[in-house]
Amino acid sequence: MYSRRKFLQTSALGSASLLVACADSETNNVNKPIVISTWDFGRAANAEAWTILGKNGRALDAVEAGVKIAEADPSNQSVGYGGLPDRDGHVTLDACIMDELYNCGSVMGIENIKHPIAVARLVMEKTPHVVLIGEGAQQFALANGFKKENLLTPESEAAWKRWLQKAKYEPVMNIENKLYNKETDPMPGGKDNHDTIGMVAMDAAGNLSGACTTSGMAYKMRGRVGDSPIIGAGLYVDNEVGAATSTGVGEEVIRIVGSHLVVELMRQGHAPQAACKEAVERIIRRNPEKAKNIQVGFLALNRSGAYGAYALQKGFTYAVKTETEEKVLDSPSIY
Ligand code: ASP
Repeated sequence: MYSRRKFLQTSALGSASLLVACADSETNNVNKPIVISTWDFGRAANAEAWTILGKNGRALDAVEAGVKIAEADPSNQSVGYGGLPDRDGHVTLDACIMDELYNCGSVMGIENIKHPIAVARLVMEKTPHVVLIGEGAQQFALANGFKKENLLTPESEAAWKRWLQKAKYEPVMNIENKLYNKETDPMPGGKDNHDTIGMVAMDAAGNLSGACTTSGMAYKMRGRVGDSPIIGAGLYVDNEVGAATSTGVGEEVIRIVGSHLVVELMRQGHAPQAACKEAVERIIRRNPEKAKNIQVGFLALNRSGAYGAYALQKGFTYAVKTETEEKVLDSPSIY
C-alpha cells in the first residue's frame, strides 16, 4: 500500500525538483559574484559595488560602497544628501546593513550625516547593539570621525516649501500611471521619482550581504521610521538561503516583516520572484482597497544566484550586475 510516509517522501522529492525548476526558470542562472539593487539608480550603485566584487572582495564591503553612491547624489531626493525633509524641514535618514553571519547594524532618524550606511556598519562592528536612533546615532557618528553636514539642498527645500502651501500628507509613490509634475506637485510620485536603495550581493566566496538606505517618506511626521532601517522589514540576509530588500510604503512592509518573509519563503522552496510575489499578495489580502493605491516592491537573490522582484504597481525597476551583464529590469507587478 502507498503509505503516508511514502507519500510524504515523494512529495518532498517533488518539491525539491520544483525548487530546482523554479531557480532555473528565473531567467537567470547567474554565476557569482552578483549584485542587485532597487530602481534605475541602482545601476550606478551596482557599478561601484562591482569594483569590490569583481576583485573577489567581500559582499559586505561591496554593498556599503554601492549604496553610498546613491546617498551622495543630490539629484536623488529620497536617499541621503538632497533627500526630501520631514514635514518640519529636517532631513532624517534611515539605513541598515547585514552580513553573512547575521551581524547587523541600523541607524534611524539620523540627521546631518551624509552616509548613514557607514554609521550603521559601525554600529554593527563597534557596538554591542543593533540599532541607534536620532541624536544618539549622530553623537556616535561624530565620535567616530563623521562630519556634520547640511543635507537639505536648495531643490529639496524649495519642494518642501511648495508642499507647505497645502501641507497635504498623501504619499503616492512610483505609480506609473500617476504622473508627477515637479512644478505643481511637490509630493514624490510618478515614474521619475526614485525611492529607497536596497542592495543585496553575493561575493565570489558565496557569501551574501545587504544594505538599505533612505530619507524615508517625503514630508513624514517628525520621528516617523519606515521599513528601510528595520532588519527583517527593509532588509534580511540569511546565508543559507538568500537575501531580500524592499521599497515603497514602509508601514505595509513592516506589518508583514516583508524581507524576512521573502527569505523564509525562499527557504520553503519558492524561487525569488515567486517569494516576492507571495509577500506582495499578503499585503493585498490585508487591505485590498488600500493596496490598489500604494506602491511596495520586493527584490530577492538566492544562493544559486537566481534573482527576482515583484511589486504592487507597475513602475518598479531594479538593476543587476554580474561578470557578463549589467542591466535594469522592470519588475512584474500585480496591477
Ligand atoms: N520604504 C521607504 C519608507 O517607507 C520609502 C521608500 O522606499 O520610498 O521609508
